[in-house]
Amino acid sequence: MRYPCPGCSADLEFDPKAGQLKCPYCGTEVSVPTENTARVIRENDLHAYLTPDAARLARLAENAVEVACESCGAVTEFTPPEVAGFCPFCAAKIVAQPIAADPLIAPEAVLPFAVPKKDAQVAVKKWLGSRWFAPSALKNMARQDGIAGVYLPHWTYDSQTQSRYRGQRGEHYWETERYSETDQNGRIVWKERQVQKTRWYPASGTVARFFDDILVAATGSVSETRLRGLEPWDLNALVSYEPAYLSGFKAQRYQVDLGTGFESAKEIMSGVIHSDVCSDIGGDEQRVHSIQTAYSDETFKHILLPVWIAAYRFEGKVFQVLINARTGEVQGERPYSIWKIAGAVLFVIAAIALFVWWQQGQEKPQV
Ligand SMILES: [Zn+2]
Ligand SMILES: [Zn+2]
Repeated sequence: MRYPCPGCSADLEFDPKAGQLKCPYCGTEVSVPTENTARVIRENDLHAYLTPDAARLARLAENAVEVACESCGAVTEFTPPEVAGFCPFCAAKIVAQPIAADPLIAPEAVLPFAVPKKDAQVAVKKWLGSRWFAPSALKNMARQDGIAGVYLPHWTYDSQTQSRYRGQRGEHYWETERYSETDQNGRIVWKERQVQKTRWYPASGTVARFFDDILVAATGSVSETRLRGLEPWDLNALVSYEPAYLSGFKAQRYQVDLGTGFESAKEIMSGVIHSDVCSDIGGDEQRVHSIQTAYSDETFKHILLPVWIAAYRFEGKVFQVLINARTGEVQGERPYSIWKIAGAVLFVIAAIALFVWWQQGQEKPQV
């Protein structure tokens, strides 16, 4: 889908500042056209989608194309007039010709870009500039290299859970204990003290909890630690997905499939269930022997979250600086300059040596 400008017929792009489509040439603004008939964000039945069914798949946009990066394998999708250019994740030049995008489980919702590109560029420069140990060559490179706006694929899962558990409840009690001590005169004296002990009782039962919107990243191109650093996301501001949100940006095709993502969601849920079980057991201490959880009413959404990525290659390695395009939070990794660190260490050693030398001079006896 192309969105021609009503003023000059150039292609409109989604503008983060305006929150709608804007012509990069004449500045005409147009609100995001709605192509999805149902403008409500639905939860999809997980089991229905776990069985492959082409009828449930769709393209991000009618004219969406995709390219796979030969260097890192990430598949990015976009719509013309956007071009493949460089891989947003590893900065490798993409030589393959874009092909019509494969249908996928279409996103239900999207958080539109809110941080404009200019602000993101300033944030990256500032972030690198505040890193004194970053090599100067890197700072220069980051200045020249571009920054890409990419929607990262995520799954959110909902599920009703019912968990049966078996364990033990520990209750504290105090016991008087006699013990001996040797006093100053070398005599043995007997004393008493209170000691805390635990009595264990068998415990079993059932806990239930409904989980809403457990977020699981479906990208493998960004480290999990960095992704977590970008949180929180204002998921309550999600809007129904429209292809127009893609204009001027790229979207990554999900790398974690629906079923694998649900396994990760179960792990997140199990931590909460475990603490539910402990509070259900009660007492002063708890032992959990087994928890069996039944999941029902499992639903999911495929959502797109906006990130600015500055990827650069330095001495054969790939480094990424990421910006949450909703909050402006910056997360990144950077190489250290060995020369700068060595220089700093030498400077400190020299300063200490100088100080010692000066002090020895002061301590010389006055004649
Ligand atoms: Zn225009
Ligand atoms: Zn790549």
